[in-house]
Amino acid sequence: MRAIVVDHPGSFRVAAVPDPAPRAGEIVVQVDCCGICGTDLHILAGEFPPTPYPIIPGHEFAGTVVARSPDVKPDLPDGTRVAVDPSLYCGYCRRCRSGQDNLCENWAAIGDTVSGAFAEFVAVPAANAYRLPDHLDGQYGAMVEPLSCAVHGLHQLGPLLGDSVVVIGAGTMGLLLMQLLMHAGAGPVTVVDRVAERLEVARKLGAAAVVTDASELGESRFAVAVDATGAPAAIETAIGLLDRGARMLVFGVSPADATVRVSPFRVYNDELTIVGSMAVLRSFGQAVDLLASAAVDPRALLAEPLPLEQFGEAVDRLRAGQGIKWHIRPS
Ligand SMILES: [Zn+2]
Ligand SMILES: [Zn+2]
Repeated sequence: MRAIVVDHPGSFRVAAVPDPAPRAGEIVVQVDCCGICGTDLHILAGEFPPTPYPIIPGHEFAGTVVARSPDVKPDLPDGTRVAVDPSLYCGYCRRCRSGQDNLCENWAAIGDTVSGAFAEFVAVPAANAYRLPDHLDGQYGAMVEPLSCAVHGLHQLGPLLGDSVVVIGAGTMGLLLMQLLMHAGAGPVTVVDRVAERLEVARKLGAAAVVTDASELGESRFAVAVDATGAPAAIETAIGLLDRGARMLVFGVSPADATVRVSPFRVYNDELTIVGSMAVLRSFGQAVDLLASAAVDPRALLAEPLPLEQFGEAVDRLRAGQGIKWHIRPS
């Protein structure tokens, strides 16, 4: 089969590699669509510590079941269309045993630590595959993974009926989070992003207000702030926008050694709550349902999928901030 192989940081190619064979508990999925995200850029740059090289990246994907190990019950027969949760948990560490699978001490993931889906085929645990309803195509299926991360983020925030919200960053995750926040009953949602075209999308999807710079918000303060950028300066800005008693979700991925300045007096005196959200936790099936019911509509975020041979072009576009979400269609 053909696949993107990252031989070492900074170097990738379209390569002919052996087709994957299913091991115990696994099925083989013919990949229809696989999304490119910031984590893939970090893997390409050698900035994602758990990744070994060479690796076939790709963790946001959907496709069709084409084979399975004899020990897998035929609940997912050949031809079943599925989205795949890339998370690989050990199940026996103290985190897994306390229900915090996403914080597993032996954490691994399809496309991050083992072969992923920028390939014609990928072998995955049957337990990680979720059936897609007929009306969701493969590109929507490839949006389940990022959406399931956003769903976990909302679980971390807790109830927010009527609360005013500011979302920093209108990339894929900011726009998915914004739609989820509105679906969950948040009050008016304000979106901040430097890119005007992204704010137009945010506006179309229901943002109450959009600004290119937080300074335009004047004295406005919010009950909830969500950072979907990971940029330390943006996180400091978001904390500055918190009202007394407010909550902040740190969703964007910052560099591991980054720091931000926070006034402990404000955290105490204004009773601020700052929570984090890491990947997917029992939120994959909910994400399928939210897409199936059109509670979240990713259409405005999507471009026409590109073939494997244009992977490099898609990466360049993502790096240049062109478009919002780019997908590869390997088959
Ligand atoms: Zn991702
Ligand atoms: Zn574990």
